[in-house]
Amino acid sequence: MNNIEQYDPEISQALKAEIRRQKHGLELIPSENFVSPAVMEALGSVLTNKYSEGYPGKRYYGGNVHVDEIENIARERAKKLFGVDHANVQPYSGSPANQAVCFALLDPGDTLMGLSLAFGGHMTHGLKVNFSAKYYRSVQYQTNQNGWLDYDMILDLAKKERPKLIIVGATAYPRKFDFEKFRDIARQVDAFLLADISHIAGLIIAGEHPSPVGLADVISTTTHKTLRGPRGAMILSNGNPSTPLKAVDRSRENIPTLIDRAIIPGLQGGPHNHQTAAIAIALHEAAQPEFREYGKQVTRNAKALADSLLEQGAKLITDGTDNHLMVIDVTPFDVTGKEAEIVLDSVGITVNKNMIPFDERKPFDPSGIRLGTPAITTRGMDAAAMKKIGVAIASVLKQPKNTETLDQARVMVRELTEQFPLYPELKP
Ligand SMILES: *Cc1c(COP(=O)(O)O)cnc(C)c1O
Repeated sequence: MNNIEQYDPEISQALKAEIRRQKHGLELIPSENFVSPAVMEALGSVLTNKYSEGYPGKRYYGGNVHVDEIENIARERAKKLFGVDHANVQPYSGSPANQAVCFALLDPGDTLMGLSLAFGGHMTHGLKVNFSAKYYRSVQYQTNQNGWLDYDMILDLAKKERPKLIIVGATAYPRKFDFEKFRDIARQVDAFLLADISHIAGLIIAGEHPSPVGLADVISTTTHKTLRGPRGAMILSNGNPSTPLKAVDRSRENIPTLIDRAIIPGLQGGPHNHQTAAIAIALHEAAQPEFREYGKQVTRNAKALADSLLEQGAKLITDGTDNHLMVIDVTPFDVTGKEAEIVLDSVGITVNKNMIPFDERKPFDPSGIRLGTPAITTRGMDAAAMKKIGVAIASVLKQPKNTETLDQARVMVRELTEQFPLYPELKP
């Protein structure tokens, strides 16, 4: 931090405040995590200086011997870890990755089908104002009243709308996906199936969620959520990775080539090599036995937190969780999602407001909040800590104006963050 402090006090001040916020707060946003110092070191490395449009061995710029080595290692590690024939590690982030999949498999105006944002899906799965609905014809499926996916409903909709691409994946779904059912639905209507495992990639590695490999035609994932790497994304698939990089048919066999061509020259220029190196390191970490234990603890903690909240009378969508996250309907506590987010933030607990199924409120002040355990589990927190957090959240939501309650919650946050320190080597 010394150089930033010296050269740019304004940025330095905000950065130090952010370090303090991360160290002293409870991070319950389920899409966030804390990367290792090694991952951070790669992100701050000289690799950020290099242009390397193209792929290893086929670059449009000279001087890429070492970058080729790094990207090849990242690709090989991704293939081995997930058990696929091909990995593209260049997407700048999750949204561009999904854009690339659509670019690869669809023509403008073709129909795609995904889970509605209001029911836990992602914007790139066909939200009206997103590219996925502007450039394609978007059909959206929903959950049932209780928040569960209804596979018969999804099949009926697919038969009626005949999408070319079906997307399975979510940002706020607390249960497991049945990838086999999605494969069957996609086959029945002759659609490609994209599994967007951004939220659950780390759980899949840990054996805590079934893998879509062999069922989905193509898999996209961010690398910064449960996978605990840098911000970034990958696209994984089976098929023939050595088809020449020229225009090819849209067959399953050609998906690796279609994806590579969609990333560059289709959508992107130079890959972020510092990010690629950091992804490679994160994949190495995810291949260790400790990561498996981490993923198991993430789901154990989510269950413990859900149980604690249920004991306190909270209403959880689907009545619980079997992954890393949960969605709470906070309206029985007589607060809105936005109010809940703000009051929890004021005691050092970071969550985000979220729509609940068939929400009668608006996206900017919905009925729910979403919380998850990936980040606090990285800090080493256990089931006993989850119980305390659940009690504190419920008490704050029940009495958001009671200063004593809020102070008690602040004390709990201080005790837990001291007991489970984050980045002890970082001194703001
Ligand atoms: C996070 C997420 C994305 C988008 O990732 P960004 O890196 O924020 O662009 C896409 N799909 C799903 C399911 C996600 O959870």
